[in-house]
Amino acid sequence: MKAFESAPDLFAAIGNTPLIRLPKLSAAIERTILGKAEFLNPGGSVKDRAAKFIIEDAERRGALAAGSTIVEGTAGNTGIALAMLGNARGYRTIIVTPDDQSQEKFDLLHALGADVRIVPAVPYADPQNYYHVARGIAQSTLGGFWADQFNNPANAQGHYATTGPEIWKACDGEIDAFVASAGTGGTFGGVSSYLKERDARIRTVVADPLGSSLYCYVKDETLETTGDSIAEGIGIKRITENFRMAVADDAVRIDDATMVEMAHYLVHHEGLLLGGSAALNVAAAARIARTLPKGSTVVTVLCDGGGRYLSRLYDARWLAAHGLTPRSDDLTFL
Ligand code: PMP
Repeated sequence: MKAFESAPDLFAAIGNTPLIRLPKLSAAIERTILGKAEFLNPGGSVKDRAAKFIIEDAERRGALAAGSTIVEGTAGNTGIALAMLGNARGYRTIIVTPDDQSQEKFDLLHALGADVRIVPAVPYADPQNYYHVARGIAQSTLGGFWADQFNNPANAQGHYATTGPEIWKACDGEIDAFVASAGTGGTFGGVSSYLKERDARIRTVVADPLGSSLYCYVKDETLETTGDSIAEGIGIKRITENFRMAVADDAVRIDDATMVEMAHYLVHHEGLLLGGSAALNVAAAARIARTLPKGSTVVTVLCDGGGRYLSRLYDARWLAAHGLTPRSDDLTFL
């Protein structure tokens, strides 16, 4: 369980999140689904871990020091975490983010005092993509440090050092599968490689939204994509250094309709108001669990909370406009 003892600083309050059993879902599918409650981190998401390890590693290497400015391209959560931790350490932050992310994440970045640069959501191949823009700003800023969450190995190493061992310990090693989506691959890369080292029999499965290449990459080593998704922070069309750490046995694709149905199921039946990637992870975990013997245990990640998607995932008009109004109040969609 999360240790609520005192923490010497904000950095020390990151991690040690509880692994929450989802009792209704587990009973319905006769397999145990456990969710790592990353929304309980101080910045409200799994990305607090990446930000913490990237900052601490850069400080050790001397790449970050008094007067530095942290620059990052991010769908939002990494920026929120970097701005929060940057403030605690006295670093400025410049956050470059695509314009198709939720308003709530922009508002949080502004509230934290980050210098927010919103750029058009264009493909990676375009030099105006937020990733390339962030790198350019870091290079042209005096004392600029580019966090580079996609390729900075401190990201996955942080999950290898903390998230993986926390899951292993909380389950006493009784894990049949680990299922999670990837945005940078830090979480999946670090946790899957740690768990596989502990017990090679644990099935490690990538959960992928439409529009991402990871499903095809794991299945047949191509970077094919199909369709699109409203999921924020997950899905990639290239193989990042952090995803290279991953050990993936399999992949499963979850469409937006299933993700939204699961998000609303989790609110109504488990009392959990979560973001889309967390709901997609739970849907994927349940689907994989059903392929395993009854009584199996599947672990997944509850990446962030639903509060930062109220205007989308939990707004009836927005859902209707996107043809995603939930249709069932049970698990028939699964
Ligand atoms: N869910 C959300 C909401 C995220 O913001 C991210 C990070 N982009 C992820 C999941 C995926 O985490 P990772 O970067 O460790 O793959």
